Amino acid sequence: MTDVKPTASHYVDGKYLEDADGTPFDVIYPATGETLATVHAATKAVTDAALDAATRAQAEWAALSPRSRGRVLTDAARIMRERNRELSIIETHDTGKPLQETLVADATSGADALEYFGGIANGLTGEHIPLGDDWAYTIREPLGVCVGIGAWNYPTQIACWKAAPALACGNAMVFKPSETTPLSALKVAEILTEAGAPPGLFNVVQGMGEVGGRLVTDPRVAKVSLTGSVGTGKRVYSAAAAEMKHVTMELGGKSPMLVFDDADIENAVSGAILGNFYSSGQVCSNGTRVFVHRSVKERFLDRLATRLATAKLGDPLDEETNFGPIVSQQQLDIILGYVARGKEDGARLVTGGERLDRPGFWMAPAIFADVTDDMTIAREEIFGPVMSVLDLDDEDEAIARANNTPYGLSAGVYTQNLARAHRVIRKLHAGSCFINSYNDAPVEVPFGAVKQSGVGRENAKAAIEHYSQLKSVYVRMGDTEAPF
Ligand code: NDP
Repeated sequence: MTDVKPTASHYVDGKYLEDADGTPFDVIYPATGETLATVHAATKAVTDAALDAATRAQAEWAALSPRSRGRVLTDAARIMRERNRELSIIETHDTGKPLQETLVADATSGADALEYFGGIANGLTGEHIPLGDDWAYTIREPLGVCVGIGAWNYPTQIACWKAAPALACGNAMVFKPSETTPLSALKVAEILTEAGAPPGLFNVVQGMGEVGGRLVTDPRVAKVSLTGSVGTGKRVYSAAAAEMKHVTMELGGKSPMLVFDDADIENAVSGAILGNFYSSGQVCSNGTRVFVHRSVKERFLDRLATRLATAKLGDPLDEETNFGPIVSQQQLDIILGYVARGKEDGARLVTGGERLDRPGFWMAPAIFADVTDDMTIAREEIFGPVMSVLDLDDEDEAIARANNTPYGLSAGVYTQNLARAHRVIRKLHAGSCFINSYNDAPVEVPFGAVKQSGVGRENAKAAIEHYSQLKSVYVRMGDTEAPF
């Protein structure tokens, strides 16, 4: 039996740390509403200890050979895979996501990131620039202490997607999970220590936005990487900008998925299910505006409703379950508010949308049809299992409508005409796009957004640019000439 109760609230300088002076808050299991543990928000003493430890560890870590650093990360990846089941059970308690998902999408994705960045650590070189007799070279240097701030939907993955490239480049990190999901990142810290990371290299401090705000403005911090909503992103970005800190912002979205009349409908339905109902719809890149060609719309809706009826909702620890609860009462209320608004605005509720009468935070996944661009449910990020199906008549018009949003995280297209697929994707304003698929996020591929959905990229070689800086060195081989 996995004990999900954390050893202590924080993980600082290579060990668990408690400080009961911090504001207490409960860790609630979304599937039942039961309180699993109480943790404390980090006091200033805790954040100071974490930042001091990270500053110390960073100097020591950056002095190691990149290969030695990489080995710690790949060892951590191995330990994570060995402990996958235990970590998945903790992630399920943290978020409510079914074990069927967490066994394949959380610690495994975290391990992929640690393995990938551990593997490329010793290939992070500068370049030689010939200039006739003279020459120059560049040195790729770490930024220093980085702060990671996470959302509640993928706590293990978010911690690893930030820590892995940061540490590979020679940085240290202080990570603040969402107050809703404080458990999982502590395990990432524990595993990095076990893999040989020096004490203080990766610290976890708990708390609400106020603790995040304290970290963001601290002069010891060189970079801030946030996964969260656009509103929080704007606040954190401007606070970081005031001190000229580097930032990565992975924010929200209202992404379009375009289903043309020549699409394989069964595959398009699969994409729409993945892009709206996986993790109970609490995924930033979800394709929540599904534009379906009018001529195939009813067939699409019919298949969608039929397949949705086979979703197995229930105990998230039962591996047969494939649809779990919403993360919190607060988030459930927000989502149900959007369902009510969709009905008021005249959208057709095809199925679902009601709160389920059971302990915990449950609702039936919802599909709205006949949604128009001006409706609130088509404009705002809901962050729950609510799909809006909009009519599509013409390719150019659909592209213009798809782009008519301040967001720009993801976009998908379903068509068997590959020329159309590439043409349409090229015109869609989004960072992470899919052709005849949806929501794949392998570590080898850059992940990120355009417009208000964020800045910077996570994963792939692209992440290196956001966790390191170049020093240029000009080398004169002859005399230095001066005008006087
Ligand atoms: P929030 O924006 O509410 O919070 C994100 C994190 O920021 C939390 O840890 C939060 O702390 C913290 N925070 C809040 N205010 C501040 C502040 N002023 N200074 C520093 N930190 C602060 O997002 P949610 O947790 O509700 O997550 C859902 C959002 O995250 C959605 O918009 C979703 O699209 C986005 N997201 C984006 C992803 C991406 O990769 N693009 C992936 C996953 C989610 P606390 O909550 O504890 O108060």
